Amino acid sequence: MLGSMSVFFMSCYKLPKAITHKLLCFQRDFWWNHSETDSKMVFLAWSHICKPKDMGGLGFKDPEKVNNAFLAKVAWRFLTNKDSFWNLFYPHEFAAILKIRLPAAPAPDKLLWLKTKTGEFSIKSVYRSITQAEPSSSGLVEDNFDWSKFWKIRGISPRVHLFLWRLLHNALALKANISKHTSHTDSTCLFCFSHEETADHLFLHCFVVKQIWFSSPIGLCIDTPDLPYTLVGLFNFWLASSEATEVFKLGCALVWCIWKARNQALFDNIAVQIDEVVKAASSLYIEHSSTTTLATRSVSSFTSQQSSSNWIPPPLGSIKINVDGATLDCSIAAGIVARNSTGDFLEGHCFFDEEWLGVNGAIKVEARAFLKGLELAQALQTPSLILEEV
Ligand SMILES: [Zn+2]
Repeated sequence: MLGSMSVFFMSCYKLPKAITHKLLCFQRDFWWNHSETDSKMVFLAWSHICKPKDMGGLGFKDPEKVNNAFLAKVAWRFLTNKDSFWNLFYPHEFAAILKIRLPAAPAPDKLLWLKTKTGEFSIKSVYRSITQAEPSSSGLVEDNFDWSKFWKIRGISPRVHLFLWRLLHNALALKANISKHTSHTDSTCLFCFSHEETADHLFLHCFVVKQIWFSSPIGLCIDTPDLPYTLVGLFNFWLASSEATEVFKLGCALVWCIWKARNQALFDNIAVQIDEVVKAASSLYIEHSSTTTLATRSVSSFTSQQSSSNWIPPPLGSIKINVDGATLDCSIAAGIVARNSTGDFLEGHCFFDEEWLGVNGAIKVEARAFLKGLELAQALQTPSLILEEV
């Protein structure tokens, strides 16, 4: 309502900066859910949020820029009116124009607007070019991220889609981000209590989260020495491959459920349960996927080729179970994944014990991972089995 009222005035007059700023504050406070008395932290510049969606923003309109775009239309009308057009030039410019060689076949003069493909003027193209000129202020994301494709992916809950957008812009209330604004803030990860809670740590490199990725249907092993994973790199990679759309969607569900588990640890003091996070993410993915059976197959066949490049499938009729364990201080964790000869995911399990009090953790956790692998093999009742460490 406020927008449509102001549009009329914007199309005729240059609004004072105080007015356009007030309009912008209304929008901004509504989006960040601020009241006039609030002074909440924000982690992303409003100018970035106002960028078009395919440029990494959310397409909010900056009132001052909209006003300028409307006024550009008035100027364009003036220019394209033949009588007023010639009044714009000084006599020497006018003479220079008359000296321009004309084409052999006569054609009427026409002003072309170079910001659109058709040469026709559009307010949208003015707004876009004003916004494009501004430097990017986002946190994690790279300039070459395909935002257009990002928003076109279907089968993701809108809330999760928006969450991933915020995550990729490093605009979440992560402890590392909060500590940039306030001093004396504890920024330790709530899962491992040994690293700073940054986006890449909490969602990828934390040893608890590594187990989540590994035991998920994606079966992603983060510890590949020659391939340093980053959140943006990973999602960009999946986005770029047309075969990895389902992996991208499951990845969205996983980061969303990791975030929920982290918030439960922070606000309700509930310890993370790796199994529960993987189950919740799988349910969320299935809930929003219209082609579940097909999707699950394509997730496993894609990941078995891409994320474990050295993984060799077992012979026909056999099952291969991969196990991996990790330990840190008094916590141990392990993941177990079973796949068939075509690389399809059959079943996965994991365990996590944060109050483990033994010694030689590295050896013990591997042994427990193998034991879990054997239990899974027994449950699958396979006649031929290969059990290997990742
Ligand atoms: Zn951690």
